[in-house]
Amino acid sequence: MKVSRDHPRYRSLVMREAMSEMVKNGIVAPTGLIAHGRGEAFDYLLGEETSDNARRAERAAVALLLEARNPVISVNGNTAALAGKEIIALSKLIKAKVEVNLFHRSPERIEKVVAFMESLGAKGVLGRHADTTIPGIASDRALCSKEGIYSADVVLIPLEDGDRAEALAKFGKKVIAIDLNPLSRTTRAAQISIVDELTRAISNMIAMWPELSREEAIRRKVLSDFDNQRNLKSSLELICDRLTELAEEGKP
Ligand code: ATP
Ligand code: MG
Repeated sequence: MKVSRDHPRYRSLVMREAMSEMVKNGIVAPTGLIAHGRGEAFDYLLGEETSDNARRAERAAVALLLEARNPVISVNGNTAALAGKEIIALSKLIKAKVEVNLFHRSPERIEKVVAFMESLGAKGVLGRHADTTIPGIASDRALCSKEGIYSADVVLIPLEDGDRAEALAKFGKKVIAIDLNPLSRTTRAAQISIVDELTRAISNMIAMWPELSREEAIRRKVLSDFDNQRNLKSSLELICDRLTELAEEGKP
């Protein structure tokens, strides 16, 4: 379908088209579209822009990733489809490994998503040979790679499921989530919760890298000033304030 550029929801419609193509080629699971829809709903409530809270969390995330000993970015089908290239660019800047990890795991889909990331230029993508498990998860969603997520100190999990996010945090990982839902279990389990749309979040993080990579003192300050609970509360207040304002205006 050809989407007209002057449509007010142009960007969202283009993304939907791209996601539905990615279902056809097996990168995105059909239920991934439902997760995407939930994300869109929250983005609508947040005004479809990066809030100051999100920006603060993104800065703290870049600082933490740069301070990490073994940072890993976990990539699922939706993440690869929406921001594969940008994830690769970020991983190079912060020297993070990329590991493909799927909610709907099958050897065929793992191969497809790893090969897709490779086709975008990624090197050394992990995930083909999951050789261990994250404790505390019953299903094969526990599978991961020893040299990746298992031994990471910091894990960036865009659009992750709550069970895995909670298990990673319990396992002692410093978890950074990117999730538009400020109420999700993933957001609540994370040490740094970025309540922002994935593609905006990653490009903001890339733009923040030059300043934060220069000086350790700035990174330390960003991290010590950051309070995730306070930040999350502000994201919820932002949604409440917007709804109140709109209700008072009487035009949704
Ligand atoms: P949880 O398991 O954490 O309690 P959930 O079951 O509601 O949450 P999942 O389907 O497990 O959610 O994960 C998808 C999450 O990703 C949703 O919270 C959704 O808001 C979020 N999401 C979807 N698309 C995007 C996007 N493009 N950018 C940011 N977040 C997104
Ligand atoms: Mg879930």
